[in-house]
Amino acid sequence: MNETFELLIKDHPSKQLIINGSKMGRISSGRINTLKLDKNQFIEIMNNESINIKFIDWYENGFITDDIEKIRQLEIYKNGSIYIQSLSSMLPALYLEPKAKETILDMAAAPGGKTTLIAALTKDQAAITACEQNPIRFQKLKYNIEKQGVSNCYLIQKDARQLDDYFTFDSILLDAPCSGSGTLDLNRENKQFTKELVDKSIKVQHQLLSKAIKMLKKGQTMIYSTCSILNEENEEIVRKYLDLVDVVPIIPIKDEHLQVVESNIEGVLTIAPNQYYEGFFIAKLKKK
Ligand code: SAM
Repeated sequence: MNETFELLIKDHPSKQLIINGSKMGRISSGRINTLKLDKNQFIEIMNNESINIKFIDWYENGFITDDIEKIRQLEIYKNGSIYIQSLSSMLPALYLEPKAKETILDMAAAPGGKTTLIAALTKDQAAITACEQNPIRFQKLKYNIEKQGVSNCYLIQKDARQLDDYFTFDSILLDAPCSGSGTLDLNRENKQFTKELVDKSIKVQHQLLSKAIKMLKKGQTMIYSTCSILNEENEEIVRKYLDLVDVVPIIPIKDEHLQVVESNIEGVLTIAPNQYYEGFFIAKLKKK
């Protein structure tokens, strides 16, 4: 196991659950891009191609499959009518509950898995601004937005910390850059997972969350999420801002496979990694 990970997780109350889950392989999953494909058409194609999929209970267009390689060969995959996405990664956009006509900021958006889900959930009727700092990842974001038929999205290649806070939004998704501790495969070495990465992530997470709160309209809600299970990147970041925001309690989705890690802040959701879910953290915050 990675030494840094071992050290950082040593006092975690759900240490064993997380370690065991990080050694399991993960089932493939995806969603129908309803901007381009109807569910019935999708089912028909799956039947015709004899591809085995199972819809998940908490999002009608999400599915799991053990036939992912066959799916990658299909025209509906190549043209953006379906998107391969982890189950955990769908949740922040769903908990955001985006609505048509809202102005929505996706602050750290590439490759666009959540931006495009927000667009699909609002039938491309919300005014989305998607920001991404990294130029190569920005190109990937742009590619996915176009491929998935999203038209109501304004793309900005910029460090989101430098956004002009003269602009305010009805709703914000901050899917923050993080150490990725919830997605590690502990059967491998994970050389990229270092204390420096965790420390750097924490610093940027603070700066981005502080900026997000400035740009959120009063009384409106935002999501702060990471694919990390470390409290330092999750609850401890949120805790610093509780004088500016209230936590809107998240009701965990109903799924027998979901394993929730106990949190020190009531109403946030920390998902333990397992065969179905990546380790993830989601907090819904309302600006006072
Ligand atoms: N939300 C994305 C999705 O679901 O497809 C994944 C986002 S990923 C967790 C975080 C992203 O934030 C990375 O693409 C990273 O390049 C970007 N990023 C890091 N620091 C940033 C900053 N200061 N401003 C904007 N984007 C940043």
